[in-house]
Amino acid sequence: MLDNFQVAVIGAGPAGSTAAEAAAARGASVVLIERKSEIGTPVQCGGFLPEARELASLMPHARLPETLQDIPERCILHRTRLQRVFSPYGKAKEFPVAGRVVDRRAFDRWLATRAARAGATVLPATRAGIDEGALQLHGRFSGSLKPQVIIGADGPNSVVSKTMGNKGSEWGVCLEYEMVEVDIDPDAAEMYFSARYAPGGYAWIIPLGKNTANVGIGVRPSYLKDQKLPDLLEGFIREHFASAKLGRGQVLAVMRGLVPAGGSPPAIQKENMLLAGDAAGHVMATSGGGIPLAIVAGRIAGEVAAGHIKYNEALRDYSSRIREEFGRELTRSVQIRKMVDMAMKSDRLMDTLLAALSADQMKSIMRAQIPAALGLVRELSDDQHR
Ligand SMILES: Cc1cc2nc3c(=O)[nH]c(=O)nc-3n(C[C@H](O)[C@H](O)[C@H](O)COP(=O)(O)OP(=O)(O)OC[C@H]3O[C@@H](n4cnc5c(N)ncnc54)[C@H](O)[C@@H]3O)c2cc1C
Repeated sequence: MLDNFQVAVIGAGPAGSTAAEAAAARGASVVLIERKSEIGTPVQCGGFLPEARELASLMPHARLPETLQDIPERCILHRTRLQRVFSPYGKAKEFPVAGRVVDRRAFDRWLATRAARAGATVLPATRAGIDEGALQLHGRFSGSLKPQVIIGADGPNSVVSKTMGNKGSEWGVCLEYEMVEVDIDPDAAEMYFSARYAPGGYAWIIPLGKNTANVGIGVRPSYLKDQKLPDLLEGFIREHFASAKLGRGQVLAVMRGLVPAGGSPPAIQKENMLLAGDAAGHVMATSGGGIPLAIVAGRIAGEVAAGHIKYNEALRDYSSRIREEFGRELTRSVQIRKMVDMAMKSDRLMDTLLAALSADQMKSIMRAQIPAALGLVRELSDDQHR
């Protein structure tokens, strides 16, 4: 059964299942290979996904697949209407952002089911490697496979990206707890900046309901000084001013994972290989949010792969199509993150920077959209260094 697929997609996360569905729906024969025994499990995500109208302004040039617009209610755990940002000294600013919190286990399974319905063959519990241009499968299915196109949707530690010669990019490392019995604001997804508890990144509270939340930190290793992630997250929950909300909570689940923070590697297409989602660094560096970009990139990868199989269209068009749909926003998010990096080293600088921004400007910066916002961050960081 393994020898006649035209397109092989590695990884059944949002990018891979979307790519498999798009390619299969256009008539390519597709195999979707996932190393996890159960797609979507274990969860390594906060599940925060802005509503479709927010995504349309976050990525104004992207064609949003139906799966970002019309998600079954059973995949949505909760809805929020605000984003609140806390400075290290506790000053808060908030702005409206309509958000959904998806149950990644159900959401990823739904996306994989759609790929299967479109005609893709799904192989869970099967790990893929690449050796001399051929895919080597191990696990529930073993054997070798030589598809015409390989889509690497295999997450932040992508073997496909390494095969293409990309070196490791910049990462955020994340630790997150699912907590119950917390005293949070169920309407607001919250971000907390703190050089002490979330060096080089931020801590978050994503409500899952009235008294439940995903609580996590994302930090950058270059900012750590012998600190351990569990100690930082425990400190955030028990010592930081957020402890008023979290201190009496209980932890039901522990999740960890990497988030690309440096944008795309030099190549996202080489020979017959395409990269999509985390594997391609498709994560907004200002927020660490990767689900929307993964789904848009997956759709483009599937379309380009099928266009190549059916009509001999060039695979190299993939990179320019990504650039057209969200390249500008992704690049700007990395530029903004680099400018804010300096302020991240000092709570005092970060506090001043956040105090100087209006809630609207903050929203623009989070969306990485308005060039004027870039100028403003640059100006403020320069001021701090004078
Ligand atoms: C703690 C944490 C919280 C986050 N919170 C949010 C959030 O709230 N909102 C948001 O938008 N983003 C969030 N993200 C980022 C988001 O999870 C990712 O950007 C998103 O999952 C990317 O989708 P993907 O399909 O590219 O990769 P993934 O979802 O990582 O899927 C890749 C898949 O490939 C499989 N795989 C890897 N290697 C192989 C192999 N060799 N063979 C077969 N299968 C393989 C993996 O098992 C995995 O299932 C968070 C990340 C972390 C770590």
